[in-house]
Amino acid sequence: MKHFNTALAALLLLTLAGCSSKQATTTAVAPAGQVDDARLAKADSEPQNWLAHGGNQLAQRYSGLDAVNLQTVANLKPAWSLDFDTNRGQEATAIAVDGVLYVTTAWSKVYAVEGKTGKTLWQFDPKVNGPHAARNCCDVVNRGAAVYQGKVFVATFDGRLIALDAATGKQAWSTATFDPETMYAISGAPRVGAGLVFIGNSGGEFGGRGFISAYKADTGELAWRFYTVPGEPGKADGAASDEAIAKFAQPTWFGKYESYRGGGNVWNSIVFDPELDQVYLATGNGYPWLRTFRSGGKGDNLFICSVVALDARTGAYKWHYQETPGDIWDYDSVADMILADLDIGGQSRKVLMHTPKNGFFYNLDRRTGELISAEPYIQGINWTLGIDKKTGKPIDNPAARFDERKQPFTASPGEGGGHSWNPTAFSPKTKLFYLQAFDYSSGRHLPRPSFEYVKGLDNIGTYHFASHMPGEAPPVPDPKAPKPQANLIAWDPVAQKAAWKTPGVGGAVLATAGGLVFQGHSRNVVMGELSAYRADTGEQVWSHKTPNAIVGGVISYAIDGEQYILATTGAGGGSIIAGTPDVRARQPGRLVAFKLGGTAVLPPDPPRAEPPVIVTETWSATDIEQGKDLYLNRCGRCHGLNARSPNILPDLRRSPTLASKDSWRSIVEDGALQGNGMIAWKSFLPEGGSERIRGYVAGEAKVEAAALAAAVTP
Ligand code: CA
Repeated sequence: MKHFNTALAALLLLTLAGCSSKQATTTAVAPAGQVDDARLAKADSEPQNWLAHGGNQLAQRYSGLDAVNLQTVANLKPAWSLDFDTNRGQEATAIAVDGVLYVTTAWSKVYAVEGKTGKTLWQFDPKVNGPHAARNCCDVVNRGAAVYQGKVFVATFDGRLIALDAATGKQAWSTATFDPETMYAISGAPRVGAGLVFIGNSGGEFGGRGFISAYKADTGELAWRFYTVPGEPGKADGAASDEAIAKFAQPTWFGKYESYRGGGNVWNSIVFDPELDQVYLATGNGYPWLRTFRSGGKGDNLFICSVVALDARTGAYKWHYQETPGDIWDYDSVADMILADLDIGGQSRKVLMHTPKNGFFYNLDRRTGELISAEPYIQGINWTLGIDKKTGKPIDNPAARFDERKQPFTASPGEGGGHSWNPTAFSPKTKLFYLQAFDYSSGRHLPRPSFEYVKGLDNIGTYHFASHMPGEAPPVPDPKAPKPQANLIAWDPVAQKAAWKTPGVGGAVLATAGGLVFQGHSRNVVMGELSAYRADTGEQVWSHKTPNAIVGGVISYAIDGEQYILATTGAGGGSIIAGTPDVRARQPGRLVAFKLGGTAVLPPDPPRAEPPVIVTETWSATDIEQGKDLYLNRCGRCHGLNARSPNILPDLRRSPTLASKDSWRSIVEDGALQGNGMIAWKSFLPEGGSERIRGYVAGEAKVEAAALAAAVTP
């Protein structure tokens, strides 16, 4: 904890005084983080705050503030910005309570920030174990904190759930949600309600059986745990899920039991529904990806790729709806779930809306789990022939079952999905659901002939990131194939069709009572832009460049009658592997706040990165080819496909270490930088492997240098 400021200390003293003396209750200053169930249930009545991850408990990401509107938005200018102390990926949605923002950064650090000025009130660093960073796909991101009963809750990348005093940032309790030696990680935000803190985990690409836990907010004691997929047949966990696993899930899994098999990780969306006293979890893909290796090539494999409803207080199973039975395409169902009461067929229905990666927009009855409707929100879906309205299940497309056919298959959507985890919004005013979506995206799936689990690697049963099978000629692109197209979509959930579509690649959205939809964007992967659109037509009415790309959440709050639009900025997550011809110097993530008539100047765009390092040594073609294969399977998921990195995690072509055999080996093989997550890879590499990887990267550095030289030559 740093920067403990004196004003806050005075406030704390006042608060403490309030405990012993009734006179002090006349003070206008509220104690920090006093959010309870009553307040959360009526969050919409205090639009100046953003009390929960999704704004309110319906998770609608809708702000009732309207000072920034169609008439005034042209005057929306930067109010302040705050540099974080890390340049890794940022995905958080901030919480705003009574003038204070609580936000998390990469490495699961927490900031409490004055919403009016951007001044840091306190910081908390859980000192995440560096090497744990290698246990997830997409950088050490964190999607946010929860604020409840005077505490701030954060879940750390290495698996701890920590409660902090909201006034001081001092740790109140900490509990391990999993054994740190296992292949789990946490990037998701905890959610709160009914006196409990709910938290899941990632691990669906590494061999980790998904589960969600509920801890008592006041003590950190485990209240219940629910596993989303079965463990060893006939062996109970002594968990809230035992009955549902035995009754529903276990009969849908086949083949030999393997201790690593699983998935179904609850890595993003969890919603507590106070009205029905239920908690909903959205689950990820199965592990390994291929059902032939996971479940003897058959079965729905419950509860992967599903929405599951539990009794919030006991974790007892209420209902489930599986969106992608027997998934093999990485169609995580972890997208934000949004609750609303909708008039459908002349009836008011309690609906859970969901837009998972598989490309369908689902309306589920949240009392029963009944499928009300499902229609594709994107074009080009080919994994299913459609949803059978009678059974509520998708109709299998045999051609898409590439693992059984042992043939490559180009699936649409691709593994990025029609839409992934990026926050979505629903406006009760326009009755439209806003999301980023990708038409005609595709992903090439190449089934491996056999599967071997190696702890520590993201081995999923396919040749990941490759375009063709080993020994096969690269596929010839079909010029008539529809082009992939990214859009911001306003979806009418009742009519199940788009009200409008605006082309463009973007991330999180926020809907406001000012008739606007805000969306964060990236420019050349690492720089960004915040834009506003008319909520009724999709016309862009405002935008402002930001030094960092905006992947994280956008929220709104108000202080002293002024409305703020706040974005957590900083590329990362999936974009760490996105190549760009315009590589920039690494820069810190930032909070960026806008208000009407703001006068702040944002930091400039980061300068161009240092040029590639030219190495004079030479390697044989065979060594380089082997180095390329090792790079793709070991290094590519963090340092960029084909060595083309946007330099969020270091671009190795530009690393001074590239020129030194010894330094390179000490980092790659011996873990000299393991504190940053660069573990010792020796046990995962053949003898001489790191040197062959260096040969491959050195070649790519020359290619990059030539491309840069050609670009500046007229
Ligand atoms: Ca996945």
